[in-house]
Amino acid sequence: MEKYKPKKDLSRKAVSYIEKHLSLPSVVRFESCHSFMRFLTTEKLDKTRLEITNACGNRFCPICTWKTAKKDAIKLSILLEAIKYQESKEYIFLTLTSPNVTGEDLKAEIDKFNKAIKSLFRRKKVEKIVQGYVRKLEVTTDQEKVITDELYQRKENYFVKRGLKVGDANPQYGTYNPHVHIILAVNKSYFNKPEQYISQAEWLDMWRDCMKDPSITQVDVRKIRQNQNSKSNAVLEIAKYSAKGSDLYHSETVFDTFYTSLKKRQLLVYSGMFKDYAKMYECGELDSYKETDDAVYTHLLRSLWNNSKYENTLRELTPEEFERYNERALKIEELDEVE
Ligand SMILES: [Zn+2]
Repeated sequence: MEKYKPKKDLSRKAVSYIEKHLSLPSVVRFESCHSFMRFLTTEKLDKTRLEITNACGNRFCPICTWKTAKKDAIKLSILLEAIKYQESKEYIFLTLTSPNVTGEDLKAEIDKFNKAIKSLFRRKKVEKIVQGYVRKLEVTTDQEKVITDELYQRKENYFVKRGLKVGDANPQYGTYNPHVHIILAVNKSYFNKPEQYISQAEWLDMWRDCMKDPSITQVDVRKIRQNQNSKSNAVLEIAKYSAKGSDLYHSETVFDTFYTSLKKRQLLVYSGMFKDYAKMYECGELDSYKETDDAVYTHLLRSLWNNSKYENTLRELTPEEFERYNERALKIEELDEVE
């Protein structure tokens, strides 16, 4: 429950910002999100599984976005493993960026971005090597008026190039940076066939072309080295939410900019082989890749949000419940967002 409390606290700030954008029932649902949770627990309380909760499902909700990111990370790492194993593919991690824009221009910039991505993937050379991809749009914002130590360290190259130091006015104050993270599936032979291989300089060139912006200086491309036991950074980058909490809930104005630019937009996109395998995942055809849970659940823990904290009650399962829950336990993970 300790993990939920800070998100629940943040949710109070979020609701004050989002209220004007939603209908009354939606506001109530947003505000009461995860106010009730029931967990299955082991005897020693060392393992818990959420059995049921009231989730609002809103993409700007701090709790729902956190949980969606966790689920997407699991799903993505299984897709990567399955495609690698069943289709003998390898992966490339590509990050496409463009210069920062103002809040007013953000929505139009994202539209331009999406169009450019489509045309990039229609290029003959790209089409030929890409067997499928999964991509995620992310937007960050810079809300520091002056350059702080922390900001300087993060964007040192940028400041050095402009002769700026800590304490100077930040030229990127109040701007937004949309960028896209993409995992591409390619044939193993891609890395050894010079006629197929696309270098970083070529990606940059094509991206500039598609964006019709020669001032773009960066494209990051690397081979993904998958570690079977841990989720790769690429997976985590794609799974995480499109705007980090410290940006999204920075202030009401910033929130409104994110809200208008990101609402109703498809943020996570599966294509080609990734689309096919995502469907298989949803149908349970990739369950053999899932971690199995051999814990024995003996208790039910109820958590009710009351006066800014969760009140918990624990009771032992009845013999009938014990049988029912331990039979279903493996499937509960999927049920955990059901309202
Ligand atoms: Zn929620």
